[in-house]
Amino acid sequence: MILIVDDKPENIFSLKTILELHSFPTDTALSGEEALKKILRQSYALIILDVQMPGMDGFEVAEAISGYSKARDIPIIFLSAASTDKKFITKGYTSGGLDYITKPIDPDILLLKVKTFYRLYEQNRELNRIQASLRSEIEFRKKVEGELQERAGELHSILESIPQIAFTTRADGKIEFVNEQWLKYAPSKQEFPLTHPDDTDLVRQWELTVASGEALDMEVRVRSIGEEDYRFHLLRAIPIREGNTITKWVGTFTDIEDQKQAIKKKDEFISIASHELKTPLTTIKAYVQLLDRAIEPADPNKMFVDRALVQIRKLDNLIVDLLDLSKIESGKLKFNKKTFDFGATLSNAIEMIRQTYPEYRIIRKGQADIQVFGDEMRIEQVLINYLTNAVKYSPDNKEVHVEIEMHPDNRLFVKVRDFGIGIRKVDQTNIFHKFYRVEESANRFQGLGIGLYICAEIIRRHEGEYGVESEPGQGSAFYFSVPFVRDQALSQGA
Ligand code: ADP
Repeated sequence: MILIVDDKPENIFSLKTILELHSFPTDTALSGEEALKKILRQSYALIILDVQMPGMDGFEVAEAISGYSKARDIPIIFLSAASTDKKFITKGYTSGGLDYITKPIDPDILLLKVKTFYRLYEQNRELNRIQASLRSEIEFRKKVEGELQERAGELHSILESIPQIAFTTRADGKIEFVNEQWLKYAPSKQEFPLTHPDDTDLVRQWELTVASGEALDMEVRVRSIGEEDYRFHLLRAIPIREGNTITKWVGTFTDIEDQKQAIKKKDEFISIASHELKTPLTTIKAYVQLLDRAIEPADPNKMFVDRALVQIRKLDNLIVDLLDLSKIESGKLKFNKKTFDFGATLSNAIEMIRQTYPEYRIIRKGQADIQVFGDEMRIEQVLINYLTNAVKYSPDNKEVHVEIEMHPDNRLFVKVRDFGIGIRKVDQTNIFHKFYRVEESANRFQGLGIGLYICAEIIRRHEGEYGVESEPGQGSAFYFSVPFVRDQALSQGA
């Protein structure tokens, strides 16, 4: 907006008309005092100021304006009465004015000057805007940098306070920070702790991890400087991301040697205990079986012998599971694989469950006359385990389905479905883990939580898949797959 200041309304009118004809918005003031009031309230792009006015003259107004920080940069065009005021023009310039026009006004010259000032004003405004946005950008960056430094400081204090060996690296993997513990194990702040010669080389491993962008979780043996013995540590490192970009890595080495030793001792104990228990139990079993045969069916003591045999069988199964567990742990679970008739194995397993649990109805669905390549005893063990669990965990619904499907990729799928207590989603992923039992039902049903772990290992070793589908209160369907022998299937199917 352009402010026109003149004491003569006719002058104002003609100026206003010329400017508005050329689309310049205008405002007017009839005296210097009024002009100053307006300038205080509003910002103008240009002031056209008559020099000769009663009261405050144009130069006084300009001088007053130069005192306002908000307005001192507004350009001024003085309107002066020909030569009389020329001597004052320099005064006009020094008090902040920028140009003048002599009366009578030549509209072309006026427009030329107004346009120039207006363009300057707009360029100035644009420059100011850019400057302001640059300033706020710098402020923002400073703030973010400050916050980042603060966060890094906090992270370092946390890493100093923990007992682990801890470090952070830049996004490219170069070590940035290490805590005090680090120097007890590593030769310098820039190098990783020394690992056992048989373990993975950490420098290479770290390069691979950084290149992959995936978190690292591995066990390594490291030793502290000056010590002979290596201790197992769990090395964990995670990438820190901002949006999709990794900005740094944070990692720790946790000493897990004592846990490792405890697990080793426990495994040794289970192995020794199950071996030691197995021998006397086999003898007891043989004697009780002899007694069972010797005793007359009508003898009232026969019932006690039968009950003893049921318990002996349970104990025997537990010990066999424990022995299998130790074999898995020590990598000694052996498989005797050959082609066998799966249908017969399944019938045996179902028959055994029917005899032990006559009150349950086991319904078989689908064709199972097929040859499978694998360890027959072990596959039967998986079937019996799935079936026993189906019976055990469905005390109120005495029906179990065994569903057989042959998939085109030469895989036989076996599903054991019960309509019992079911399993929650959170537990479903864990039940194949060692010693895992669902807490809610652990008191109600006896067990060690190793049956499914052994099944999983057996199926894995047959290159098969295993899993469970279940709904709490509705029942569960445990499944596994094993490869079958295709030619046999075709000939049997034909
Ligand atoms: P155990 O039965 O000796 O506890 P398993 O390894 O066979 O050990 O099973 C692990 C856990 O999985 C069980 O404790 C039980 O909580 C759950 N589970 C297994 N089978 C079923 C099933 N058919 N229905 C419901 N829960 C089951």
